[in-house]
Amino acid sequence: MSALIYTGTVQLITGIPTMGLDKTLNHQENHWHSQTVGHVFSQTKSGITGLDDQQALERLSEFGPNKLAASKPTNAVFLFFKQFHNVLLYVLMISAVVTALLGLMIDTAVILGVLIINACIGYLQEEKAEKALLAIRKLLLPYAMAFRNSHWQQIASDQLVPGDIVRVKSGDKVAADIRLIQCHNLRVQEAILTGESFDIEKDPQPVLESIPIGERTCMAFSGTLVTYGQGLGVVVATGHATEIGKISESLKKIKPVTTPLLRKMTEFGRWLAGTTLSIGGVIFLFGTLVRGYSFPEMFLATVSLIVAAIPEGLPVVLTITMAIGVGRMAKKNAIIRHLPAVETLGSVTVICSDKTGTLTRSELTAQKLITASHEFDVQGSGYIPIGAIQDTHKKQASLTQDQELFQFIMAGLLCNDASIQKRDLTWDIQGDSMEGALLVLGMKADMDPEMIRKKFPRTDLIPFESENRFMATLNHSHQGEGYIFIKGAPETILKMCAYQLQDSKLVAINHDYWRGNIENLALQGLRTLALAQKSTSVQKTTLLFTDIQSEMILLGVVGFLDPPRESAYEAVQICHDAGIYIKMITGDHLKTAKTIADKLNLTSSKAVLSGEELAQLTDVGLLEVAEKVDVFARTTAHHKLRLVKALQKRGDIVAMTGDGVNDAPALKQADIGIAMGIKGTEAAKEAATMVLTDDKFSTIVSAVKEGRTVYDNLKKNIMFALPTSGGEALTIIAAILMGYTLPITPVQILWVNMVTAVTLGMALAFAKTEPDVMQRPPRDPKNPIISGFLVWRVIFVSLLIVTAVFGIYIWERRLGTDLATARTVAVNMLVGCEIVYLVNCQRIHQTILNTKQIFSSLPILVAIGIVSLVQVLFTYTAPMQFLFDTSPVTVNSWLRTFALAAVVFLLVELEKVSVAKLKTLALRSFKWNWTKNS
Ligand code: ATP
Repeated sequence: MSALIYTGTVQLITGIPTMGLDKTLNHQENHWHSQTVGHVFSQTKSGITGLDDQQALERLSEFGPNKLAASKPTNAVFLFFKQFHNVLLYVLMISAVVTALLGLMIDTAVILGVLIINACIGYLQEEKAEKALLAIRKLLLPYAMAFRNSHWQQIASDQLVPGDIVRVKSGDKVAADIRLIQCHNLRVQEAILTGESFDIEKDPQPVLESIPIGERTCMAFSGTLVTYGQGLGVVVATGHATEIGKISESLKKIKPVTTPLLRKMTEFGRWLAGTTLSIGGVIFLFGTLVRGYSFPEMFLATVSLIVAAIPEGLPVVLTITMAIGVGRMAKKNAIIRHLPAVETLGSVTVICSDKTGTLTRSELTAQKLITASHEFDVQGSGYIPIGAIQDTHKKQASLTQDQELFQFIMAGLLCNDASIQKRDLTWDIQGDSMEGALLVLGMKADMDPEMIRKKFPRTDLIPFESENRFMATLNHSHQGEGYIFIKGAPETILKMCAYQLQDSKLVAINHDYWRGNIENLALQGLRTLALAQKSTSVQKTTLLFTDIQSEMILLGVVGFLDPPRESAYEAVQICHDAGIYIKMITGDHLKTAKTIADKLNLTSSKAVLSGEELAQLTDVGLLEVAEKVDVFARTTAHHKLRLVKALQKRGDIVAMTGDGVNDAPALKQADIGIAMGIKGTEAAKEAATMVLTDDKFSTIVSAVKEGRTVYDNLKKNIMFALPTSGGEALTIIAAILMGYTLPITPVQILWVNMVTAVTLGMALAFAKTEPDVMQRPPRDPKNPIISGFLVWRVIFVSLLIVTAVFGIYIWERRLGTDLATARTVAVNMLVGCEIVYLVNCQRIHQTILNTKQIFSSLPILVAIGIVSLVQVLFTYTAPMQFLFDTSPVTVNSWLRTFALAAVVFLLVELEKVSVAKLKTLALRSFKWNWTKNS
């Protein structure tokens, strides 16, 4: 149990029955801020020992979970009718009216069918995308530290109830409205409530009842961020009864599912729709006035041309592709908080990563102890508190005989907020892993952490902040002796010490001895921590920074083993192959960082830089260093921010990890801010675009891989949709321009469009990762998705499709086939071309022929199967023949269709190979000219 002391005068209330709680509890009208803590305790029927599970459960059923009503997903009816709000459906609606007026009832029925089916498809697709993204957002549930059943527990925030005793520390998002009981330099940012972005210093003293929210210093409000220090308080309001609950409506709005690329594609879609309408108008006039087609015939042809040319399903298919990517990332433990990150991930050129817990396992084990007289090795691994502590002669250490070691281990247990518990066969640490390792060390030395903490209760504390790199506590024995304990980064602690404890005596500190030993530990890749203490008076109840600045007694240094994660080795190698640089940016010692970086083969240069050296550099100087140096140690959050900016100035796309509250600006500045889900603070998670639920570096690399895949798939979808739409539209345009009978009737075009949009058009959203995706350099974000190559591909494939459709139609007619059958063959040819082109599209640049990928995608095979079946029904069943004027096709016609489809497939593959060859040649000739000229 961690120390829990309240020094004010309150009535300790424990074991009170919960029933009969004041009905005004959990109500905003209670002026908690103007009441004394004692009064608050009696009103909440709680006490400093908090609640037990039974009481909490009863209160939970009475007051409900501590959460605000989730924002409702878009209303289904609204979503359905929203589908009609697009150019294509307007065109279809007008056509249905016009054809009805013209008495073309079959065409009207088909158009209406297409219209409704299109709206249903759009609805289902959009709903799926929205649901997938909502489900992922739910994965990031916050937790709170509550004192339940007499010990600290991490519980889901929505389980908090009025009367719970909770602890908040820097980086936490306050989970409920809390009346503070203790504050240790507690500062809270309440912008979400008050709009003021500066920090508010908190203090448990009550304030006047009339004081506004922003000045209620004894309260911590739900949703606000702790920026510094620690606090302890009692929950007074949860869920909708909190201050934020009152204004929650404004927070409920769901951000629209969009990204820059999706926005660009929607704009492009609008442009395409406008252009198509204009072209349709011209073609209509040309057909009626020049070629002499009848009005109804030309009207229907124009409508089908417009419907064919607009890739109406594309924006939704792109959204689904993104949602699928985001879902895959979530399965691999990377939660995307802002959708645009999915696009950016594929362009990342540098990953700036923390060391502890990201590249390393963060299951710390104290391995070496150094006191002024001895060096000890500690046996055992992980958090199992079994293992011998031996000196260099393999002699078991004895705390009764070694005063230095005894003091050292005591300091480690008392200057510590973690707790350890045995659950079944494993040992579970709550709190910081290094502090947990100090508890394990104490237990290996046969000390009982709880007993020691009871013997020396804590009176005050200066919590750990990464900018200070130390933590200090003030403890008193029951006999009245006062002690200050401090632990932290050795360089920081050394500066505060004047003495060392040696052979039970105080002697002047030997800086050289300690520096040598610290460096030695760091060179072994161990994470180092120094511990010091001094005595103080019985009257002292508050701990100030000035109390620890000097005259401290150094007790010793401990080296913790924190080995690299197995998965990190491979992930680093993948980054090297993928042209992504890795920078290790850590708060740890320079030599520890370098040793771990070398083990991981992470560095390309020998250069390492400390935060102090970095601080000396100008922004211009940093530009050069940012590229050359791969390991930055003893850095602060401010250094991280400068580094991100410098790298971005060099043109890099930066992914940056962070966990602390101070990391928020760097996370926001980075192109991809990545927060740690386990050890990260809520502040870091809020600022991040992506959260890792397992804190692993390899997860970042998996996310980058998924990001690249998503971008490939977006490109593939566009590459498939545009030429197929183009091919369908060109078929009609060409026929009208040449004054030819239409090889495919307007309603048949509508049919093809509808059938392929649901099946083939969706299949590429599920396309698998290309095998070489992590062997290419990162994508340049400046390269537009509608590139010169894409335009060429659209023209090339559109022409292939038109040629094949016209070709087979003319061929059939020349063989004497009747018009209806020839048209049916032409429709099957069109669908055939789309099928083979879908297979082509599985790889954008490389040929698919010599890969196993060709028939490996189940969604593609299913889509092809469905379309083929539907085409058979279209060709041979009576209702279809009636509706679409189709007619049975002979085996020979099918063979001709297959043969031509195969030719189209091979020509696209040939195009891929030729374009690749041309690119290589162009690159070579450019290099040759460049060498010659220079
Ligand atoms: P990384 O950025 O790779 O996660 P880090 O975890 O080492 O690095 P910090 O958490 O800022 O970075 O820690 C910096 C140093 O502060 C550590 O090397 C250690 O010496 C000291 N330190 C860390 N945690 C504590 C703590 N709870 N109490 C006292 N000192 C600590």
